[in-house]
Amino acid sequence: MNRPFIEARGVSKFFSGVRVLTDVSLSFESGEVHGLIGENGAGKSTLIKVLSGLYRPEEGTLLVKGEPKVIRSPSHAAELGVGVIHQEFDLIPQMTAAQNMYLGREPAGRLGVVDFAVLHSNARRLLEEVRLSIEPTTLVRALSVEQKQLLAIAKALSRDAGLIVMDEPTAALNGAEIGRLLDIVRGLREGGRSVIFISHHMEEVLEISDRVTVLRDGRVIATRPSSEISESEAVRMMTGRERIQKRLRSALDRTISPGPGKPAVMSVKNLSHPKYFHDVSFSLRRGEIVGMVGLEGQGQRQILRALYGDMRASGAIEIDGSPAAFKTPADALKRGVVFVPEERKEEGLCLRLDIEQNVTLSTLKDRSAAGVLKLGRAAREEVRRCMSDVKLSTDDPSRMVHSLSGGNQQKVVIAKCLACKPTILLFSEPTRGIDVGAKEDIYLLIRALADGGSGIMVVSGDISELLLVCDRILVVHAGRITKEFEAENADREHIMRAMWGLEEALIDPKGVSGGQ
Ligand code: ADP
Ligand code: MG
Repeated sequence: MNRPFIEARGVSKFFSGVRVLTDVSLSFESGEVHGLIGENGAGKSTLIKVLSGLYRPEEGTLLVKGEPKVIRSPSHAAELGVGVIHQEFDLIPQMTAAQNMYLGREPAGRLGVVDFAVLHSNARRLLEEVRLSIEPTTLVRALSVEQKQLLAIAKALSRDAGLIVMDEPTAALNGAEIGRLLDIVRGLREGGRSVIFISHHMEEVLEISDRVTVLRDGRVIATRPSSEISESEAVRMMTGRERIQKRLRSALDRTISPGPGKPAVMSVKNLSHPKYFHDVSFSLRRGEIVGMVGLEGQGQRQILRALYGDMRASGAIEIDGSPAAFKTPADALKRGVVFVPEERKEEGLCLRLDIEQNVTLSTLKDRSAAGVLKLGRAAREEVRRCMSDVKLSTDDPSRMVHSLSGGNQQKVVIAKCLACKPTILLFSEPTRGIDVGAKEDIYLLIRALADGGSGIMVVSGDISELLLVCDRILVVHAGRITKEFEAENADREHIMRAMWGLEEALIDPKGVSGGQ
């Protein structure tokens, strides 16, 4: 990277005593496009106004080409080489393009009269640089929005701006115009200028920027190379944990709960195991997410295993109204029941294989002796579809699974299960040990699967997770389902009490809960 053209160190800005920027330290380098992102009110425009001399910061220093400077006014900023393309462009409609560019700095000939020949030839050169094919004598009011914007850039170039700030430059442009603007921005970078690019269109910012800075509540949350940050990560940083929770909750709330009239996709009657569980009865409807929770060792994990043929049990399981007796997980798979293990390396994934091989592991049984297989075109497309359904951070199916983060490995586990086109998914600890961001993706994915008509069970020790994602929660205590909660009306404390066996059983332990 080149040296910083402009740098902010510990900058704070207050409006009537309220902090709007807090300790902002950031550098914008020559030959760099720097994206600035953040929700409305994050402080982007305020920071720009500080850099361009509209506001004086109460704390901190600005350095221009390494030298501390007090930027006194917008014209002082322009002298220092800071050019800002405001959304309103600051152009005078009744004047020509050339006059606007050189307003107040018109080249004067002898006798102090404006030398129009020089004015127009200078203007023409800069108009060409921004690929704006108009005459320097064209009146600004005759220009389109795109043309005005390019003119504003040319105007900044006329002052030899080392830094060009673009605040929402694409907001009023159409697709083709945006493409052309991004080309101009690339040209500015090649010319060694520094560009600050503000936009609400994340993919656009990530595409054009070398680095991005996320602002939230007037603070710098992170500055990262654009190649190292995904859209969802960026959004997450912009919104913050709490707001994500709210957003997630409202996304989950919007879905229609399965009505009691919906048929059971799985019903379980008096499932018993001599050692682990007794008389377990419940039903799972299409579109429903049912959680199962208990203290460690109460039998909830074994109940789940019995549901997909990994543990023998007495009693009855019906799938779509017809009896199912699974001897093995493969039997269960044939009836559309898949188990999604927690992100545990030995169970869910082959770390030394790539994504594609992992995703197709359970669907392709006929491998050649060498274990090498070539997928047909349709199968490849299917893999890609599963990858995108689970929102993997990479779209390269040949990436080795061991090179992925825990959250992405878990998404591969889920993608692998989706490839089997299940109607019932049994999750065990779906988000254990993975980062907050990937967690939320997985919650939304589970909800989307339910909305798509699958029946879903989640065994988890994380009560908040169950409250967030489930419709109903079953508490397992001493091998029995002792209580059932509607997630909507449940709270942590009551669930905890039930887990400890402190709540009197409200459901008939012999009865079949969840409606029939
Ligand atoms: P962004 O451009 O990221 O949407 P702004 O920099 O415009 O954010 O605003 C940051 C915060 O500062 C907001 O809470 C806004 O209400 C406040 N703010 C901006 N300008 C002023 C001002 N002139 N007086 C008082 N508060 C302001
Ligand atoms: Mg703004």
